[in-house]
Amino acid sequence: MTRLVSGEPEAFEPQDRALRPQTLAEFVGQEQAKANLRVFIEGAKNRAEALDHVLLFGPPGLGKTTLAQIVARELGVNFRATSGPVLAKAGDLAAILTNLEPRDVLFIDEIHRLASNVEEILYPAMEDHVLDLVIGEGPSARSIRIDLAPFTLVAATTRAGLLATPLRDRFGIPLRLEFYTPAELQKVLAGAAGKMGLAMDAEGAAEIARRSRGTPRVAGRLLRRVRDFAAADGAEIIDRRAAASALARLDVDEHGLDALDRKYLRALIENYAGGPAGVETLAYAIAEARDAVEDVIEPFLMQQGFIQRTPRGRMATARAYEHLGLSAPTQPKP
Ligand code: ADP
Repeated sequence: MTRLVSGEPEAFEPQDRALRPQTLAEFVGQEQAKANLRVFIEGAKNRAEALDHVLLFGPPGLGKTTLAQIVARELGVNFRATSGPVLAKAGDLAAILTNLEPRDVLFIDEIHRLASNVEEILYPAMEDHVLDLVIGEGPSARSIRIDLAPFTLVAATTRAGLLATPLRDRFGIPLRLEFYTPAELQKVLAGAAGKMGLAMDAEGAAEIARRSRGTPRVAGRLLRRVRDFAAADGAEIIDRRAAASALARLDVDEHGLDALDRKYLRALIENYAGGPAGVETLAYAIAEARDAVEDVIEPFLMQQGFIQRTPRGRMATARAYEHLGLSAPTQPKP
């Protein structure tokens, strides 16, 4: 089962799509990224040119796909979407690129998972709008060059550090997305409740926002589950009590940590004396994939000050001990 508080999408989240904001104005938060995008979009439109390539990086569920769609809409161009793991062969990408119209937006999610042979044809496409393809094999192989329409690549990755430098350098507009503040998430939730026709007061929204790990996707998901509990209990409005009781039953604590987060912290503290412990070791201890630990569990725990990353590994902070109701070592390690 997918974790309730994971920012990663579930296979089937139909309402997710319906809740997507359609314009930059409607998109809550990420003020710096939005301000930059506004300027660059305006400039590209005035010059009637394709927008520079955009790299969006940040943990799952913060709105990268949504922003990419908005960029296309604000530019008034088509939006094509694919993802790194889907593009297995150079020909897969070539087929998409040759079908783009001038100034279209091509969105590639999980760009860090692009195969190297696909990445190679992407470079000249991004830089000079050409495709260099090799046709045939052996002595009869020859290369042909195809001109492409100028396009904008909007790429998303969970961590910019996963990209090869030559690829990273080809993005004129790198934008880091940040976790949302509870106030911003409250706005996201109010908007979503409105679209879903739900009655929810400000305190109910605040309660869900506080436990949503700074992530709109988690906020939307919690809202849908809270709605179900409220309906089952016959509550007419989602207020603080209805929200808090539903979230307690969902095992999401007051900081938005779920059982897996607590398992991670407990492993770090009880098995490794609070650290330092390597990510590989910790992932093994809680039987999770290393990527999931690094992309989903750790960024939030770090941002909230439950763990620290040191050159020698992860360390639990005093706050983590406190959260689990354990007493911190008297001599905190550096
Ligand atoms: P990512 O691509 O980073 O994983 P998505 O763009 O798919 O994230 O967003 C996940 C969900 O959160 C979507 O349902 C989207 O509507 C919602 N969402 C993301 N950012 C915002 C925002 N700023 N305001 C309102 N809803 C948002």
